[in-house]
Amino acid sequence: MTTTRAVPAARIVLALQVLAGSLSAQPAPAAPAPSAAPPVTAIRAGRLIDPATGSVAKDQIILVRGKKFEAIGSAVAIPQGAEVIDLSGLTVLPGLVDTHNHLAITYKVDPERKNYYVTVISDSTPLRAIQAASNGIQMLAAGFTIIRDMGNNGLYADTALRQAIEEGWIPGPQIINAGIIIGSTGGQFWPTPEMGIQKHVVYPEYLEADTPDEIVKAVRQNMLYGAKVIKICADCKPWGYSVDDIKLVVSEAAKAGLKVEAHAQTVDGARRAIEGGVWSIAHDLGLDDANHKLMVKKGTFRAGTETPISLTNFQTEAGFKRDVASLRNAWENKVNITYSTDADYWVPGKTRGEVAISFIETWKAAGIPPKDILKAMTTTGYRCAQTEGSRGPIKAGLAADLIAVPGNPLENIDALRDVQFVMKDGMVFKQKGVMTPGEFFHGGPVNGLVR
Ligand SMILES: [Zn+2]
Repeated sequence: MTTTRAVPAARIVLALQVLAGSLSAQPAPAAPAPSAAPPVTAIRAGRLIDPATGSVAKDQIILVRGKKFEAIGSAVAIPQGAEVIDLSGLTVLPGLVDTHNHLAITYKVDPERKNYYVTVISDSTPLRAIQAASNGIQMLAAGFTIIRDMGNNGLYADTALRQAIEEGWIPGPQIINAGIIIGSTGGQFWPTPEMGIQKHVVYPEYLEADTPDEIVKAVRQNMLYGAKVIKICADCKPWGYSVDDIKLVVSEAAKAGLKVEAHAQTVDGARRAIEGGVWSIAHDLGLDDANHKLMVKKGTFRAGTETPISLTNFQTEAGFKRDVASLRNAWENKVNITYSTDADYWVPGKTRGEVAISFIETWKAAGIPPKDILKAMTTTGYRCAQTEGSRGPIKAGLAADLIAVPGNPLENIDALRDVQFVMKDGMVFKQKGVMTPGEFFHGGPVNGLVR
């Protein structure tokens, strides 16, 4: 046992005085410039889609003041001095949502070959945070303005990413992040005793929590370190979580207003998670017709993560067929289906955003009409991400996020593969197909400190 000697209070006061002196010797930082009137931008939209109704309005004017939409309509007056952006040859629509991605992890064919023990060992959390920043920019360029980042972020690289974007250091989508995935002993890994018991090799990729006390502690740890949604693994091990365990996670997360997503890959695990009251289910392996019907009853969101066959050799012909059939069944049952990718790997030649948008292939194969695919990618996504009152719809008072494409995604959903224009928080991120993110970069937290 070691003891520490108390430091005399006078010495602490002296030390603080010295510190204060050295701080005051520094030149005072320049006070932020007095905020000028927020800039006004008027966007001329040739077509404007409302994905909630599947309707199109022609020749609309969208007025943006500062970071928010102010007015939308065909007869909106353009104030003098407003910057006018001409998108009259394009279709304008709200930003897209990926409800399940992992921006701070990137499998490579070499050396991991989908064995992400290697990724976790070889990529530090700071390196993964930098990957996350880059992946976020790539997702935004593809039109994704909201991402739910569902764990596998090392030691909270996802919180750092969210803070960096919200404080104004870098461009990126709005991030709803999960912190560390909570699971019973082992998490999703089957570690060797050396890895598992000594902890330093595999962890902190998963937060182990078996007993009620441990579950409460794990949820609180994630909330303390900046998670905005809680992710659990319902059935990663045969011992998994019971309905009561899951109810405990849900009630603890609710104390801070957070919802819970369950990773589930068995029918029984998914059923326990739905009965336990989770907000969303990740992956479709456990989602049969009975579970879909139970999800409708409970209002559970579905983040099925249906990988297209053409994208990666991780997906098999049989797996693709099963994904297509499950997605089709969910749509027929009128489940709250969201667009979700789990796109946590590198496909050479594609950006992370191009990988994510490729998932429309599975939705088309399931025979889901474009208007319903678009609704899953927007309206239902905003509800799942809990942003519908602040960000998502093109509506006065909400964050000014929008994208524009040639063609009409309501007729051909592949139009979304060619996002030409992106606005986020009233600032232009991409124009004529080229990223112009300069105004997103700052030498300080221009939006204040975010925790
Ligand atoms: Zn995932």
